[in-house]
Amino acid sequence: MTKLPKRTIVGVLVAALLIVAAIFFQQQGNGGNGDAFELRRSEFLMSTVVEALVYTEDEALGQDALSAAYRRAAELEAIMDRHQSDSDVAKINAAAGQNPVAVSEETFEVIRQGVEFGQMTGGAFDITVAPVMDLWGFGSGENRVPDEEELERALELVDYRKIHLDEERLEVFLEKEGMELDLGGIAKGYIVDQALLTMQEMGIESASFDAGGDIRVLGIKPDGTPWRIGIRDPRDRTNLAAIVELDDQSVVTSGDYERFFMEDGQRYHHILDPDTGFPTRGLTSVTVLGKDAITTDTLSTGLFVMGLESGMELIESLADTEAIFITDDGQVHTSSGLDDQVEIL
Ligand code: ADP
Ligand code: MG
Repeated sequence: MTKLPKRTIVGVLVAALLIVAAIFFQQQGNGGNGDAFELRRSEFLMSTVVEALVYTEDEALGQDALSAAYRRAAELEAIMDRHQSDSDVAKINAAAGQNPVAVSEETFEVIRQGVEFGQMTGGAFDITVAPVMDLWGFGSGENRVPDEEELERALELVDYRKIHLDEERLEVFLEKEGMELDLGGIAKGYIVDQALLTMQEMGIESASFDAGGDIRVLGIKPDGTPWRIGIRDPRDRTNLAAIVELDDQSVVTSGDYERFFMEDGQRYHHILDPDTGFPTRGLTSVTVLGKDAITTDTLSTGLFVMGLESGMELIESLADTEAIFITDDGQVHTSSGLDDQVEIL
């Protein structure tokens, strides 16, 4: 055995001590998050479990910010849910083909952006899809496969270009009687954005808001690391397909496993192709990363309808927006700007 010089032995001992000390200090003070408190809250809203997390050195401020965020979310849900009879959206729908309806700024903004995303996706994303949703029983009622005649009639009412917006008066008019708006593919994203911005305006710098998988984070974590979000394997709920890292961004996944029913061995899910009126095929999930949740929520639904090829083409044309597509044969496809932010499992 060769004898080690004394200097080397001392060096190794010092290094080992430093490592032990580093591990020890990391376990102190909130898992490496310094003096920050980690505050969590969970509430049932928008038909899903909404989980919020705040890091702050001021616990009282953190609690207030959480309360304000949930209050804002509940207030916005109440005006955009078409199933609440006194909501802006219910009023617009009831007046279809008759008269324009004045709405709140927020509802107007969501509808305006809904129309824009309709244009961007060539109509794959269409907020007038409600009459067809109802036929399948996804709006309310029992799930069933509609017959062709019913579908044809309902599809005549689906066209986002027949939404008329008056920016001055904040009025919305649906051209045809029987037309109906369904903001289910966009409102949650907008609400997540507003909830997070509410906390930011109150002075919070590190937080996340997760409405059943519609996620937006504020900043990074106090320990200087990005947020890590798991993306579910669409065919195995106990498994993750990927992990993405977020820094002041949003991530939303649309999948065929969230709301669906089985009939004659076929899976019928709640994302419909506005051309055919049928649930789309080919993809099992689409995850979109972007700056805000209204964009990621809308595009995840829109790309899901567009399919892998045209969906990928669209996402590659957009700045600061990336996507992960999972096809029904289990293959994972990522857009080109995502490499250093995603870990495929
Ligand atoms: P979830 O709300 O379960 O997270 P999505 O964000 O993918 O799922 O949105 C699905 C919802 O979007 C449906 O429940 C329906 O309200 C609405 N929707 C379904 N198909 C379309 C479509 N082609 N364009 C716009 N909205 C749609
Ligand atoms: Mg969506």
